[in-house]
Amino acid sequence: MANLALFKTPEQILQSGNDAVLRGSFVEASQNYKSASMKFSKQGNMPLSRLADGYAAIVAIAQGPSNSSLYHPAIQSVRSLGDVTLKLGLREVSAPVLANEIQLLASEIDALNSRAMTSAEHAEKAHRLNELAARFRMETADAVLVLPELFLKQSVLGESKAASLSAYAEEEMGESLVLDNPKAAAEHYQTARLLWMQAGRQDLADGAASRVRSYGRAARCWFCGREISGEGVHFLSMPSDLTDLLKKATKGGALPAFDPSQSMIYACKGCHSAIYKLSDALAVERMRQLETRINVQLNQIRESIAETQRMISRVR
Ligand SMILES: [Zn+2]
Repeated sequence: MANLALFKTPEQILQSGNDAVLRGSFVEASQNYKSASMKFSKQGNMPLSRLADGYAAIVAIAQGPSNSSLYHPAIQSVRSLGDVTLKLGLREVSAPVLANEIQLLASEIDALNSRAMTSAEHAEKAHRLNELAARFRMETADAVLVLPELFLKQSVLGESKAASLSAYAEEEMGESLVLDNPKAAAEHYQTARLLWMQAGRQDLADGAASRVRSYGRAARCWFCGREISGEGVHFLSMPSDLTDLLKKATKGGALPAFDPSQSMIYACKGCHSAIYKLSDALAVERMRQLETRINVQLNQIRESIAETQRMISRVR
């Protein structure tokens, strides 16, 4: 391959790169493009050398389509080409359009990967995702995106990227609200559920639906009687042995204090964490006591072994 390349013109090598892309051989394509770029550069043909570099940067993304750091060199490289038409597999696309698509896809990866822990961070992430959804909708709506087709063999419309980003944004809004207002959080998850259904993502729609149920569910704390909504966040279920008399005696309130089918009682986060922390502290205390007793016994055993050894050596 390398020997043959010696006798090829850079135009022919560039063409070999395009052929390799057509076959889905991106590593080979990358080698061809880099070799073509060097040959063009030696000839002083900088525009074609840059073109070959642009292709090389694009196919480099195939090494990690979910790694945005591979996208940034491609954005620079493709932008610098000006308004030329690029050939990628069976597709032809103008360089500025492709550069914009690569930039949007890189932003999508970064936005989805950004970590949000606090309510403010979830709200900020939701804002970022919504802005990106709007850009996909405005700039790529009814176009089939080039890179997913090229690297993942998936036909993805800009509009469907926008829809899934909107759904993720609704889920982040839900997370940003759940501490203050679980009912409002459940409504955002309900919107996310509908968007996932439209996008044909039943798995994610099911995930959102389970948040709608738990965040929307309300209960009365078995211990303190507080009424609270937001299961898993503001109240939790705890295993307990309930007698029929207890169940009967607890009925009457508008909200349930226990789940009879699973022998679970509901506890608000305050009561639950107090019980949890107390039992944790008791367990640690008990462990220390055991440790002290075991250490005493260990020392006694060590002493008797040493004593035995002394006796044996005296006998010898
Ligand atoms: Zn409570």
